[in-house]
Amino acid sequence: MSIPHTSPEMTRRDALKIIGTGAVVAGLGLTKSIAADTPAATGLGWDLPKLPYGYAALEPHIDARTMEIHHTKHHQAYITNAKNLLKDHPDLLARGPEALVRDLGSVPEAIRTGLRNNAGGHVNHSFFWQVIGPATGISIGQLSVAIAGAFGSMDEFKKLFADAAMKRFGSGWAWLSLKDGKLLVHSTANQDSPLSDGAKPIIGLDVWEHAYYLHYQNRRADYITAFWNVVNWTQAEQNYAAALKG
Ligand code: MN
Repeated sequence: MSIPHTSPEMTRRDALKIIGTGAVVAGLGLTKSIAADTPAATGLGWDLPKLPYGYAALEPHIDARTMEIHHTKHHQAYITNAKNLLKDHPDLLARGPEALVRDLGSVPEAIRTGLRNNAGGHVNHSFFWQVIGPATGISIGQLSVAIAGAFGSMDEFKKLFADAAMKRFGSGWAWLSLKDGKLLVHSTANQDSPLSDGAKPIIGLDVWEHAYYLHYQNRRADYITAFWNVVNWTQAEQNYAAALKG
């Protein structure tokens, strides 16, 4: 139904210890429990998902006030707006936000742009809260191997991703996605989701000013650099494994 409601902090900390000793991430019970609760596995609903960490957990990289406003005001507004658009469309509401975003062409034209923006905003933010976190570790699984294969190295990938995030003019998102079986660094405008383009997001970064302005003001580049300190690589590995399965 939504993002995990219980705090995975202890198990994530345990996982990091194990990662530090070089054990295989995929064998952890933690990994499985996260996978079972991800929107992709269970379907995202129309309620604001709880964060699996506190608002201050990403400090100093993302400040608590920004996280709270971003989650309770901005994300909530997308949900409220989407539900208002769907109040006379119970059939569409029942399909859930991800299914609508994947198939916007099936949505009546009168509400299509509204849902593209607002169901898209709900799906994107729900994804974002999971792929960032307070204890992130490093990527050592099949995703890191695939990144090195696709982009040359992790550092080269980070440069491409930062470039996509910087060049997205105005509001939007930077993504690492899987499309047609290949890893792809790209960006989208506004709240457009990779799902609408047949791509499956693995890592995403919100580059709307509301995501960073309180702390970073106009310094989007500094926010992008800080992002790497809060990427939840365990979740990214899970997203990649799920994307490979289709
Ligand atoms: Mn946002």
